[in-house]
Amino acid sequence: MDTSALFKLSYGLYVTGVKTEKGLGGCIVDAVGQVAAGSNPLVMLACMKKNYTNECIKKTGEYTLSVLSTDTEPFVIGNFGFQSGRDVEKWANVPHRIKDGLPFLNNACAYLRLRVINTLEFPTHTMFVGEVIDAENGENSAKPLVYADYQATMRAAVGEAFQKFKETGKPPQSHAQWRCPLCGYVYDGDTPFERLPDTWICPMCGVGKESFEKVT
Ligand code: FE
Repeated sequence: MDTSALFKLSYGLYVTGVKTEKGLGGCIVDAVGQVAAGSNPLVMLACMKKNYTNECIKKTGEYTLSVLSTDTEPFVIGNFGFQSGRDVEKWANVPHRIKDGLPFLNNACAYLRLRVINTLEFPTHTMFVGEVIDAENGENSAKPLVYADYQATMRAAVGEAFQKFKETGKPPQSHAQWRCPLCGYVYDGDTPFERLPDTWICPMCGVGKESFEKVT
C-alpha cells in the first residue's frame, strides 16, 4: 500500500474556534466536509485527539469554522497551527469578532457555527458531526485556500511569519496601513483598505479614498 496516494485527496484550511475554561481557543484544521444537505446541513470535522481544541469541543459541544482564503495572512496559520491553546491565547493575536460567545476570524471567505450531534472516536482523531446552526459568506472574495496550495505556495511564508513572531513577541500588522495626505489620518481597520468601497472617505477630513497613500 502506498499511503502517499492519500495526499491526492483535497482539503481546505480552516480556523476552528471554541470556548475554553479560561476564554477562547482554536486551531487550524483541514479534515472538514459536508456530510448531509437539505434544510439541516451537517458538516464533519476530524480533530486530532492531542489538540486542546478537541477537549474543548467535547466539553462545550459547539465550535466555529472560519474558511481561510488564498490571501490569508501567513501568520494566522502559524498562530493557530504551531502553538497550543493550553499555553497561549491565540485569538488575542489576530483580528476577530465574537458572536454569541464564539470567535470568528475577520476577513475569511465564510463562517459556520456548528453544534455537535454525533461523535466518533478513532485512534488518532475524533470525528465531530455538527449541525450547521449559522452560516454566512465572509467579506473576503478571494478563493478558499486548499491544503495542496498551502503546501506549494504558503508553507515557507507561514514558517517565516511565525518565527518572526517568536523573536519579536509581536503579531504582524494584519495588512498595510494607508495615510490621508491632507490630515495624516492612518487607516488601520480590519477590512483591507483595497476592499473598502470607492465611496469611502477619510473619517477625519473627508478626502476621497483615491487620494490615500500606502504607508511603507
Ligand atoms: Fe483626512
